[in-house]
Amino acid sequence: MFFSKLETALLNAQTIPTVKATSNPDLFRLLPSIDELLRNEALQTLAQQFGHAATLEASRASIEDLRAKVTAGDLDEPQLNAAIDQLSPTIAQRLQTGLSYSLRPVINATGVILHTNLGRAPLSGSALEHVTQISSGYSNLEFDLATGERGKRDGHVSRLLAKLLNSAGREVSTIVVNNNAAAVLLTLNALAEGGEVIVSRGELVEIGGSFRIPDVMAKSGAILREVGTTNRTRIADYEAAITERTRLLLRVHRSNFQIVGFTQQPSLEELAALGRKHNLPVMEDLGSGELFDLRRVGISGEPMIADRLRAGIGVVTYSGDKLLGGPQAGLISGGPELVAKIRSNPLFRVLRVDKMFYAALEATLLAYLREDYDSIPVLRMMRLSEDDLAHRAEHIARQLRISSPQLQIDIIESRSVLGGGSAPGSTLPTRALAIRSQNNSADELLRRLRQWGTPIIARVEDGNVLLDLRTVEPAHDATVLAALEGISG
Ligand SMILES: *Cc1c(COP(=O)(O)O)cnc(C)c1O
Repeated sequence: MFFSKLETALLNAQTIPTVKATSNPDLFRLLPSIDELLRNEALQTLAQQFGHAATLEASRASIEDLRAKVTAGDLDEPQLNAAIDQLSPTIAQRLQTGLSYSLRPVINATGVILHTNLGRAPLSGSALEHVTQISSGYSNLEFDLATGERGKRDGHVSRLLAKLLNSAGREVSTIVVNNNAAAVLLTLNALAEGGEVIVSRGELVEIGGSFRIPDVMAKSGAILREVGTTNRTRIADYEAAITERTRLLLRVHRSNFQIVGFTQQPSLEELAALGRKHNLPVMEDLGSGELFDLRRVGISGEPMIADRLRAGIGVVTYSGDKLLGGPQAGLISGGPELVAKIRSNPLFRVLRVDKMFYAALEATLLAYLREDYDSIPVLRMMRLSEDDLAHRAEHIARQLRISSPQLQIDIIESRSVLGGGSAPGSTLPTRALAIRSQNNSADELLRRLRQWGTPIIARVEDGNVLLDLRTVEPAHDATVLAALEGISG
């Protein structure tokens, strides 16, 4: 017996004892007691598999379901008897659902490479291996193996970024926190708490997920001093606003919008020179922050981290899981003195990250050093050629035309989006599958794709379901094909 005497006694006190099925119209009396149910061998097995308490709970809930149906008059006697016969599998199903993962893999066929709702950057194979290796046992996270003394966790990542950013032509230190929002908060607090931070009105951005520069500034304890106008800010505007209360000059990358037309913004060099003149640090929130030059895939305007540091910016903040293609993290890179000051702030301890993140970052950064760009999923996706994408789409379309005549399939020219607040307005040419059905609306097809074994997330455009294979692992093309065949009925 898996259930104690006390438990069964308590349960039986709450339940109605079983009575043999008779012509008695009181259907409630047909419901088994929990005690009786639990004596069933199938239930004993479930208790072994899913645990005692969960099985008890699922059994009770399943009987309560039946009781509710009887009360509502939804079941006649034969139906109730059939449902009672099915109680074991019903309870098993309930246990299965309740104890399965809620977080599941999905196939991203939207063509949005850094899709925040779908988890932004997928990790590289080497990052995952390193995470597993480092996290499944102990590591030298904060232990210096040469001296046997305490070390710093930053070192594992800082040494690699020092190499990757050496074109900045100066010494660079890096620390890591939970995400870029945290990096901005920490940096503002460490460098400007109680004082003023000068920022252009054209850079008071809001990033999706309620990150607003003025709000983060308020939480950091620094006072926002806006200068210039939405479209034009001159270096003289910054200089005129400098007082003895000023602590920091801030530049924010316009990650998700562009200002075009009659515009002006001082150069980074001008901003850095102004900072030097008044002995004020200059910070830039880069958002994404590139280590790989996106001009190589035809996208310009995204800031390279090293360029900003070479221009004389004191400290930059950027995300680990945007264009960098690593784990969620916020990186703060800059001159060793400034970074040491930020590191000594108590908020750094609050916002620091676990060994898993260091392991994933270290592996990702090593791939950059080896110039093994194809091993980083987001970089590989960005570099896929239109021909390759057309070829894969063609292959799926050919099979579908044979197997699913009720679908109308075209391959159209479309644009993939970087997403995740990177490269506003920058897209990559792609070829997408455009699908419509004689039997179902595009929204219905979209819903069915979402409900597929491995859910497939696509989008609707002009009444077609659009699938962009740029963000689909080639190994998943077969799943996409099977799903399209499966939902087309
Ligand atoms: C994305 C972004 C942030 C927030 O970064 P998270 O890593 O999502 O916290 C902050 N500032 C800018 C400019 C961004 O683009």
